[in-house]
Amino acid sequence: MEAPSRYGKVTDDVLVLLSEIVGDKNVLTGDERENYSQDETPKLKPVLPEVVVKPEDTGSVAKILRLANERNIPVTPRGGGTGISGGAVPIYGGIVLSLERMNKILEIDRDNFVATVEPGVILSDLYQAVEEQGLYYPLYPGETSSSIGGNVATNAGGMRAVKYGVTRHFVLGLEAVLPTGEVLPTGGKFVKCSTGYELTQLITGSEGTLAVITKILLRLIPPPGRKEVLFIPFNSLDDAIKSVPDILKEGILPTGLEFMERDIIKMVEQYTGKEIPLHDYDAFLMIIVEADSEEEIHRIASRIGEVCLSHGAVDVFIPGSERAKRNLLELREKFYPAICHFGTPEIIDVVVPRSRVAEFVGKVKEMASEYGIPLISYGHAGDGNVHLHPMSQGTEESEAKIKELLTKIFEVGVSLGGTISGEHGLGIAKKDYLPIAFDKGKIELMKRIKQAFDPNNIMNPGKVLDLE
Ligand SMILES: Cc1cc2nc3c(=O)[nH]c(=O)nc-3n(C[C@H](O)[C@H](O)[C@H](O)COP(=O)(O)OP(=O)(O)OC[C@H]3O[C@@H](n4cnc5c(N)ncnc54)[C@H](O)[C@@H]3O)c2cc1C
Repeated sequence: MEAPSRYGKVTDDVLVLLSEIVGDKNVLTGDERENYSQDETPKLKPVLPEVVVKPEDTGSVAKILRLANERNIPVTPRGGGTGISGGAVPIYGGIVLSLERMNKILEIDRDNFVATVEPGVILSDLYQAVEEQGLYYPLYPGETSSSIGGNVATNAGGMRAVKYGVTRHFVLGLEAVLPTGEVLPTGGKFVKCSTGYELTQLITGSEGTLAVITKILLRLIPPPGRKEVLFIPFNSLDDAIKSVPDILKEGILPTGLEFMERDIIKMVEQYTGKEIPLHDYDAFLMIIVEADSEEEIHRIASRIGEVCLSHGAVDVFIPGSERAKRNLLELREKFYPAICHFGTPEIIDVVVPRSRVAEFVGKVKEMASEYGIPLISYGHAGDGNVHLHPMSQGTEESEAKIKELLTKIFEVGVSLGGTISGEHGLGIAKKDYLPIAFDKGKIELMKRIKQAFDPNNIMNPGKVLDLE
């Protein structure tokens, strides 16, 4: 993508100034930039940044942003690069600001149940550090090599959202740097705040378009007791999804409640070489439950089993060992890599009210079959977040059909009371569809907010919405 001509270039004198801020070895201008030219979004062409800069502290981030702002150079913040909407791809070149060196867990405050972390901390490292202190951070976006900064910037969700919610429900405060280099602390180690506009939550989910997040205060909770996984086969997807509202009406709040179809199960089996029990049925629910005692877990599991059997479930499989349980969960995590291994998917993460998931999936499947486009569907049924992958046949005709199908899918999702992205963000991949979800007034207000934070539009330009 051609940079709008008003953007400045990363000239030799800018490189000298960047080196003075972070040191020569943290200013990359060679082939290493290729590692920063894309994220995990399929079909998106990589774009080389002019330079990758790796600051180690907030002061350096402030200096880099001030310099970029003065020279009108676009800045793309980057965490783990695992995003699937192109948010970290530097579409206008400029600077990729990699937060990978800001990876310290600054404090785990056991009195207040708060972790204070730098944005480059990797999710798996946070889990371990928190567990060592006898605490728990329940957010579980499928990719544990993602960074906490990226999770906050995309408001990541994942498999445990039914019970615990999404990233924003755990962000108590931030430190963020504005393009002017001003450092903005927000929130604090408290759960209540009625003091002025809620800037923490505004920056959370803003996909690097408003400010660079340099510190995060995360709420922690006590660890759960026992965990059990139920794997329940059905003869039809409709039966499986229709069980979901009835499970929840029982007053049961599972940690995760996922649906999946036979195609994805077969794909993941082929991809991993591992077999999934009862794999020959058409559809499945995978339900994760947590409880303090074994009796309680058995009570919940048997109640879920009864509800599902009354909706036509064929069986209720409960893995007999910790290893079998872990295997099943790990196979669920492999869905996306398996799909990418066998084809070139589009990624859709529409969310609808959970009572409408069955209707939504039914309509989408009908539309996809009218277009003759193979479609893989699975998702977080318990929170209404459906993952759909129309598979490209690699021809121009199939790409054009998929584009049309996408618009229709988003329209149906919105018409059912949902929205176009539940957890991956708009980035570059979904931003053109924003008018399906938001009217003109709301988009104009978002543009005014963006201008208030970033008047020169240097922060991740071309993502979420276009100002030009
Ligand atoms: C196999 C797989 C499974 C996944 N499953 C899920 C899932 O279940 N749920 C889910 O929500 N997501 C999922 N994702 C998507 C992805 O992991 C998340 O979006 C994750 O939060 C991105 O974090 P990251 O550090 O990799 O961010 P990046 O990809 O580096 O960046 C993502 C966005 O955040 C911005 N950003 C990053 N750091 C900062 C910062 N410090 N300040 C300001 N902006 C910043 C970037 O500019 C970009 O716009 C999955 C991805 C993969 C590959």
